[in-house]
Amino acid sequence: MCSGRVDLTFVLRAFSNGMDGVFIGGCRLNECNYSTHGNYDALNMVLLCKRIMEHIGLNPERLRIEFMSSAEGILFAEVMDEFGKKVKELGPLGKGEGIDHYELKSKLEEITKLVPYIKVMKNEKLASRLENPEEYDKLFTKDEIDTLFSEVISYYIDPEKCQACMTCAQRCPVEAIISAKNQVHVIDQERCIKCGTCFEACPPRFGAVTKIVGEPVPPPIPEEKRTIVRKSKER
Ligand code: SF4
Ligand code: SF4
Repeated sequence: MCSGRVDLTFVLRAFSNGMDGVFIGGCRLNECNYSTHGNYDALNMVLLCKRIMEHIGLNPERLRIEFMSSAEGILFAEVMDEFGKKVKELGPLGKGEGIDHYELKSKLEEITKLVPYIKVMKNEKLASRLENPEEYDKLFTKDEIDTLFSEVISYYIDPEKCQACMTCAQRCPVEAIISAKNQVHVIDQERCIKCGTCFEACPPRFGAVTKIVGEPVPPPIPEEKRTIVRKSKER
């Protein structure tokens, strides 16, 4: 019902499935039927996605958003005709840019996994209301998006410091923390959406959750070594 429902993952999925171009049509800006003005959200998502496409070497012109009313059939036909021609001119996805098929597939998979993180990091800008098209290019810059991916944040629980209080596991929104009583807690990096809640939630007296920027996360402590032996029980 609304272009604002078109999530970044939908666009990435279309490209992952081999689509050569993606077109999003929305109602005219400021003519939204609802109070939500979701077409601004769609616009921001597209501006972000175009920069991500540039980052992975895809031509951003493969993605287009246009706003028009349902009474503008001729305009719609013209835009689609023009976009279709543009996509043909660009050639098959990846091939036109000289990117190896498997390399592109893995890049798209990697980016798709990071979508929740990207949304957390860019949530303010994604809520912008850009009234002037001259502002579109400046909302997200190339350098900003390159930095976003070169300095990806990960969270890691230091097994030496974790006291198995379970607070982080109770707060994690996606159940990404392997948790059990008296067991060192471990973050499942595949499930983690990098929201940082565990980092905030771990009591300062333990300070067991570490933020890692742009570096690989140490491997998880083996299961057989996760039991915490309390000092009182050692005696
Ligand atoms: S960063 Fe967020 S998603 Fe990841 S483990 Fe911590 S609370 Fe869960
Ligand atoms: S909140 Fe901190 S101390 Fe408690 S289980 Fe999580 S990492 Fe361990």
